[in-house]
Amino acid sequence: MGRLSGSLGGRFADCGGNDAQSRAGVNESLSRKAKDRTTDCHTPLEIIRSRYPNALNTSDTVDAFLDLMQRRLGIEPRKIMLADSICSDDLNIIEYPERAYESLGPFKLGGLDGFPFAGLTGMRAFAHHVPADGAVFVFHGPHIGVSKEGETGVILRPGQAHRSACCGAIRAATDKISSGRVAPGEVTELDYQQNTIEQLLLAHRDRIARARCAMDESTEIMYSAIEKRIDVLASRTEFPCRYVVIMGGVLINSNHDVGSFCAFRRLVCIDLTTGRREDWLDELLGVAARFIDRIARKQEPNRLSQ
Ligand SMILES: [Zn+2]
Repeated sequence: MGRLSGSLGGRFADCGGNDAQSRAGVNESLSRKAKDRTTDCHTPLEIIRSRYPNALNTSDTVDAFLDLMQRRLGIEPRKIMLADSICSDDLNIIEYPERAYESLGPFKLGGLDGFPFAGLTGMRAFAHHVPADGAVFVFHGPHIGVSKEGETGVILRPGQAHRSACCGAIRAATDKISSGRVAPGEVTELDYQQNTIEQLLLAHRDRIARARCAMDESTEIMYSAIEKRIDVLASRTEFPCRYVVIMGGVLINSNHDVGSFCAFRRLVCIDLTTGRREDWLDELLGVAARFIDRIARKQEPNRLSQ
């Protein structure tokens, strides 16, 4: 029915560090700071929100979003064609919100760290799978780990005794750039996605080098690159429906027994028949606030018994 046009368009210190930082002993120091900082945080959500103030766990994100779609557009989940551009990390599959499967999809646009490697063909393919009286919904964003102890860039995965990097691709690319091992324009067929990420980050080498937390900075750079690319792909795609809704955020993974969260950056609804764009983010956060209250009430007895 229509085509998009034009642009749609925290930093924190408790970083798990890169190899160089670890050698300098910074990692251990930051770990202690992270623990100190999270002492007053009682729940995983409070720990995440001390870094990402508007974060919500991914299940509540989906609940709030589906509620909004029903209320604002009268569109039920089964009429929503969902596509996501998130990292192919297995944890993102393990922790995929249950209610998201009430929608059609998900069509997987993303590769390593959520960059939309499926490209124009991917965007055009799922766009044509949408019901005529439905809507397209795209969620995009890079991801980053925040451990239960509050460290950035690392998590404890299922069945493992030691924490590992998250996003591993961003950790590897950031370390490689920091040690000067990425050559401009070097993209190989065997490691195309990772090499592409390396080139994206290499353009911001000085910014990463100056950052207090390289993983955080690289994730911010990836967010901007992903958002920009999603908008270009969407602007060159014909959508045979009335509404396209795009949500951008940073997906936050924590330890496997804690789950995943989303820090929101944008939520835009475009009516392709009129070209009207509405910013829904504040409304989503309002709906989300009710979920936060519900979570707090549920956890209150646990706190009292501690
Ligand atoms: Zn990843």
